Amino acid sequence: MYECKSQTFNYRKLPTTSVIIAFYNEAMSTLLRTIHSVLEMSPSVLLKEIILVDDFSDKVYLKTQLETYISSLERVRLIRTNKREGLVRARLIGATYAIGDVLTFLDCHCECVTGWLEPLLERIAENETAIVCPVIDTIDWNTFEFYMQTGEPMIGGFDWRLTFQWHAVPEQERQRRKSRIDPIRSPTMAGGLFAVSKKYFEYLGTYDTGMEVWGGENLELSFRVWQCGGSLEIHPCSHVGHVFPKKAPYARPNFLQNTARAAEVWMDSYKEHFYNRNPPARKEKYGDISERIILRDRLHCKSFDWYLKNVFPDLHVPEDRPGWHGAIRSEGISSECLDYNAPDHNPTGAHLSLFGCHGQGGNQFFEYTENKEIRFNSVTELCAEVPERQTYIGMKHCPKDGTIIATNLVWEFRQDGTIFHPHSGFCVTSYRTPEGRGDVHMAPCQPSDKNQFWKFER
Ligand code: UDP
Ligand code: MN
Repeated sequence: MYECKSQTFNYRKLPTTSVIIAFYNEAMSTLLRTIHSVLEMSPSVLLKEIILVDDFSDKVYLKTQLETYISSLERVRLIRTNKREGLVRARLIGATYAIGDVLTFLDCHCECVTGWLEPLLERIAENETAIVCPVIDTIDWNTFEFYMQTGEPMIGGFDWRLTFQWHAVPEQERQRRKSRIDPIRSPTMAGGLFAVSKKYFEYLGTYDTGMEVWGGENLELSFRVWQCGGSLEIHPCSHVGHVFPKKAPYARPNFLQNTARAAEVWMDSYKEHFYNRNPPARKEKYGDISERIILRDRLHCKSFDWYLKNVFPDLHVPEDRPGWHGAIRSEGISSECLDYNAPDHNPTGAHLSLFGCHGQGGNQFFEYTENKEIRFNSVTELCAEVPERQTYIGMKHCPKDGTIIATNLVWEFRQDGTIFHPHSGFCVTSYRTPEGRGDVHMAPCQPSDKNQFWKFER
């Protein structure tokens, strides 16, 4: 954005920073790209140091070869953990060595661009309780080309499985900002790229050290900073590229457990929506959270209800009425449940199909609402419909909360177990394809046809 380029900064008025980069088995090239871009793109009066934290990698090139390389660089320190800590504790170990006023966390496969640092530090100088994220640009996983985003950045949210989701800046937030280069309030952060005052981070309880390996820590910190009186923002003038790999160089076995910790500590009764959509998460042994609960009390943090109403009012809150959510099992083909099929799997766009009931929530979790919609609420809110003159069940974006619902989206779960669609006059019907696979379509309602009987799983 051209307005960003014309900004000037008085370096003497800005806080200094320590950049903390934890890594586990990262490729040498991407790690060095990150380090060099920080050194070259940060004004030296503002950059105290780069603290690399090797989280017990086992790659040989990350031993002496890396050490030798680093030794010729000024202001770069390398710390190694004594055991695999996971990204939360690895970052915190790095933070204990930091001498800058602000902690700036980065992943180990980033590229900082000119002017990336100053807006973050200036915003923290202005408001010490703000956690500020850069705009995250994409570095292509195959070509390692840098794709700079132009225009308005996306902000962070989540769906009720508690997976992170990007979305557009809401109208209300657009109105609130006075210029295109004001920081944008964001309900959540994507992950490891942010700056925070060291003092404020400590006040806020740093990270939840009970979290292992990867995942969930981004939502936990996001909920915490908002609920406990701070804010989370994305600065449109700060850009950092990030490699989004197709597959991480390590397994991520614990993230449901981490997410359960976040839900247990911060979400009050709203955590049920998460568990409903992730039945296996109910069985996770998430460990001792008593210290985090004490922290929440000590800081007099607000409720999750407050967070939803004030920070993320556009998020649709599921009803999850007892008996009216979960997997919908066919009586005709009794091993199978209705299953959401993403658009890339079908030429006609997203639609419903049948798949073996797996009890894992996910693509088999549906909700029947007071308004008689059949909703699928992962990623975005989708509502079941029957496109005109078609017999398949499509999934399209639900109307915004409080607006009129098209008759095409209305369904009736009738006493006899049929799911009737008044607009088409047809019933949801299971059948077998010529190949013997179970599938579902709309067909005229027949009295006592088992293929038209359905039940929400307990
Ligand atoms: N990381 C770490 N220890 C771990 C897992 C991850 O130090 O056990 C580091 C990883 O090398 C990276 C950062 O934490 O610098 C975030 O992980 P990753 O990039 O895999 O997460 P993503 O960006 O895919 O969400
Ligand atoms: Mn990453």
